[in-house]
Amino acid sequence: MIRFENVSKTYEGQTKAALLNVNVEIEKGEFVFLVGTSGSGKSTFLRLVLREHRTSKGHIMVAGKDLNRLASWRIPQMRRQIGTVFQDFRLLPNKTVAENVAFALQVIGKPRSHIRKTVPEVLELVGLEGKQDRLPDELSGGEQQRVAIARAFVNRPMILIADEPTGNLDPATSEGIMKLLDRINRTGTTVVMATHDVSIVNQMRKRVIELENGHVVRDESRGVYGYQH
Ligand code: ADP
Ligand code: ADP
Repeated sequence: MIRFENVSKTYEGQTKAALLNVNVEIEKGEFVFLVGTSGSGKSTFLRLVLREHRTSKGHIMVAGKDLNRLASWRIPQMRRQIGTVFQDFRLLPNKTVAENVAFALQVIGKPRSHIRKTVPEVLELVGLEGKQDRLPDELSGGEQQRVAIARAFVNRPMILIADEPTGNLDPATSEGIMKLLDRINRTGTTVVMATHDVSIVNQMRKRVIELENGHVVRDESRGVYGYQH
């Protein structure tokens, strides 16, 4: 589903590479934790998959397509296949829960009948039935993250990218969010999650890819977070 072939990335004006000779293959349906200290290259890895940046060297294949060969006008279409969730939720503050989720379908031109049917279904999936008319600031952090996950998943993307999704949440709430991501993963969606959350990684026992100074230094199936940095 995602393949890095000897990928290096050096940002403009920098001498040090953010990623260096990274080779990684992630199969359809996998759940992968990306760990490493701040500045190790996790966000760069995720941004390259979203084609927010180009590689300096090497190739990234997503669903069989080489991102370097993708015409610019095809990028939005490619990104629709990838849902994204962030630490800071990024909800639209003046839209209700249902409107936030519906908006993701409106912008890609889904018919109103489809939206009316799909939004309640996905809100139920994430455990927000009854909250559809609330505004984001009337919700807890965990509930806001559920809205963000509903919005990311409503289009049934092949891949879900989560960058520190539990970074602003307490441990109990984080556990609920992880159960939800696990459920989404079990529908066949490939999940790649960057995290510093030691206990979550150790509880889930999924594949762990560790970056250090832009290198992959560890890649284990059913791994743990590793040594405290
Ligand atoms: P996080 O550690 O939460 O992933 P970021 O990815 O935003 O945070 O930043 C990681 C590191 O990259 C930080 O050290 C930050 O200073 C640096 N950084 C981020 N954006 C830029 C930029 N535009 N120019 C230079 N350094 C940057
Ligand atoms: P992480 O997400 O693991 O914190 P990043 O991928 O953000 O790591 O950063 C990797 C390296 O790339 C760091 O040295 C960081 O300072 C640098 N970096 C990240 N984003 C930028 C940017 N936009 N411009 C220049 N350097 C950046």
